[in-house]
Parts: sequence; structure tokens; C-alpha cells
Amino acid sequence: MSDDSTARVSAGWARFASMLVQGGRSEEIPSEGVFVNPPVSRGSTVLFPDLASMRQKGLRSHDHEVVYGAMGTPIQHDLERLIAQVEGGTHCQVVSSGLAACTTPLLTYLSAGDHLLLPDSVYGPTRRFADTMLARLGVETTYYKPLATEAELLELMRPNTRVVFAESPGSHTFEVQDVPMLAKVAHAHQAKLLLDNTWGIGIFQPFDHGVDVSIQALTKYPTGHSDAIIGAVTVADEGGWRLLRDASIQLGQVAGPDDCWLTLRGLRTMGVRLERQSRSALRVAQWLRGRPEVARVLHPAFEECPGHAFWKRDFSGASSLFSVELRADLSFNAMQDMIDALAMFGLGASWGGYESLILPTTGGVRRSIAGGVPEGPTFRLHIGLEDPDDLIADLEGGFEVLRASSAG
Ligand SMILES: *Cc1c(COP(=O)(O)O)cnc(C)c1O
Repeated sequence: MSDDSTARVSAGWARFASMLVQGGRSEEIPSEGVFVNPPVSRGSTVLFPDLASMRQKGLRSHDHEVVYGAMGTPIQHDLERLIAQVEGGTHCQVVSSGLAACTTPLLTYLSAGDHLLLPDSVYGPTRRFADTMLARLGVETTYYKPLATEAELLELMRPNTRVVFAESPGSHTFEVQDVPMLAKVAHAHQAKLLLDNTWGIGIFQPFDHGVDVSIQALTKYPTGHSDAIIGAVTVADEGGWRLLRDASIQLGQVAGPDDCWLTLRGLRTMGVRLERQSRSALRVAQWLRGRPEVARVLHPAFEECPGHAFWKRDFSGASSLFSVELRADLSFNAMQDMIDALAMFGLGASWGGYESLILPTTGGVRRSIAGGVPEGPTFRLHIGLEDPDDLIADLEGGFEVLRASSAG
């Protein structure tokens, strides 16, 4: 990896630090003073003084007006403004989970008889939603190789292809996609390009690269403390926004005010957390790369990561989530013994909190049609705020268990 890439891994986050701190807060400070953080107001019913005022606001507001709790509370709209700013979009809808942030725009922009393109590296529950509910609703899905060329994609496009979905890098397998090319292909067919940008929040500017709708599991780095489930959908333009806002209201998509407050609070420190976590992750990844048991470290900043050139071209940083593929002659069981022996890495789903995590990459995720599918047993690491030397020492102990388990 070049020195340029090393510096870039944590630089992108620093660029966003000021926006994360200043955005989504009241600009005008009243003479009587105001708390730094916006208050949480919990509510369902909003009372109006008379019918004329109620009718004026309208109960199906597309704007960030407060008309009924199911259309969002003031703190949700503060969060929406900040996410739209970070993503560089015009409007944002906060929803109940990261998965809802994937499913809500799919339900917005697809109808019975339409065709959807999904990358084979897509987050498992998004795949399941397409294979079950969208199929039942009459939407057909074709999976494409995350690194398909323009010609290969054009062959998959049909007259009824309405959405091209991307996720970059891919869950578990970390293929970085050529998003500007995907946008070109989608737009040539009047289809929308939806991007799951959870890994790249702040360091990949989706709307500069032709994305129409950007998806975030705010559950991850934005919340940052593994204590809330929440998602966001941000759009490039007004037309896309009206459709999305309507669908969100029809689906009853909203997030609880306390979760919005936790996420806003998490975002204030996201720049500094990620600056540190991405640097620690790179150190741990570089150490892992030198281990004899390791075949490949799938970190977008490394040349051996599929699509590394796109990362270099389009991203201003890296986050702290990557995968490690062991040598193909090592068994899943030996890896299991290693994982169970680790003391500092929590074993569990999700990522983006302050704590380090490990998760084996299992059958479902590896059912990829794409080239570059891991051959050896593979695990995904999320690097938290611990001292990276402690994490490396823990992994070193894990490799000793792996060796003993393989020999015995
Ligand atoms: C975690 C995740 C989601 C889903 O988020 P939840 O809040 O857990 O529902 C969606 N996409 C990606 C890429 C994720 O990592």
C-alpha cells in the first residue's frame, strides 16, 4: 500500500469533524440563552389552537413540520438535517432501522412488474427482502457481480429495470464498486441508483458520484455506542424526495425521539472516533497481513482488496471494518477455536460501536456468484477504541490456539 493511502485512511474523517459538531444545532441563540443540545420532545398528538391552523399545516406534510408524532419529532428532523448535510443530499428521512433504510426506498421506487439489480455482495437481510417480499409483490431481482464491467451490466439491464442497488464495499467480502459507472448505466435506462453507504458515511460523497438515494444504518458509527437501532435515507433531488416521504408516511416509518437524540449525540464525536478507529484498524490489518496463517486481508485500502482502485479514486478515508481470509488449508473448526479464545473481541452481529468485534463469515454470506469469494475460512473484524497493541496481542494468542487446533 502506498504512503498516500496510509495517510488517507484517517484523513477523510478529520475533514468532517467541524460539520459533525456544528450541524443540526440551532444557529440563532436567543437572548435568554439555550442549551447546547436540542431537547428531546416525546409525543404523538400535536395540539392546534383552532381548525384553521391545523388545516394550514396539513396532516400529510412533506416538510419537516411537526404535525403528528408518526411523521417525526423535532429531534428527528434535526438529525435528518445533519445527515443530509454529511451525505451532501437535499433531504433525509430517518427510519426505524438500517434494514428499513434499505427496504423503504426499494418499496418507494419499485412496483409490480419491475426489475431490480442487486450486487451479489449485498447485506444478507437486503437479499432476503428481495428474494421473499419483493418477489411476492411481483418484483424480479437479478444479482450482478459487484465488480461487473459496464458491458456486463448493460447486458443485465431490461426495459423494466427501475432500480440498480449498490453497496460499497460489500458486506463481509469488501468489494469496492465503480459507483459512477453504475450511475451512468442506471441513468441511461431511467433507473435509479440506490447505494447502501453505511461503511462510507462522510468519506464517500454519494451524490457527487451520481447516486440518487443514499442509505445509512445509523446503528453503526453514527450512534457509535451499540445502544440504538436506527436508519436514514437521503435523496439527491426534490422528485425523489416527494416519493420517498410519501412512502415513508404510508409505511409508518419513524424513529423514536430518544434514539434520534442518542444518534445526534453519537455524531458529535464520530469524526474523532473514526479518525482513531480507522488508524487502529489499519495497524491491526497490516499486522494480520504479515501472519503466515492469513491468505488475504480484505481492507479497501489494500491493493489485494477487490476494487481497491475505486476506493483510491472515490473515497477520502477508510472505516474500521474489514475481513480476514485464512489459508484454505485451515479449517472452520480451527478458526472457531481461535475466535472462542479471544478475550478482547466481542462475538456478535453489527459494528460501528466503540468496542471491537469479531464475526465469522458463514455459508449464507459466502453464497456469492462473484469471483474473489473467500476460499479459506474468513472472519470480519470491527476495530474499536481499545489500544491496538492489546488487540494485536489478543489476536496473537488466538493464532496460537488456531495452530494447536490445526495440529491436533
Ligand atoms: C447493519 C447494516 C444494515 C442494517 O442495519 P440495522 O440497523 O442493523 O437494521 C444495513 N446495511 C449494512 C451495510 C449494514 O452493515
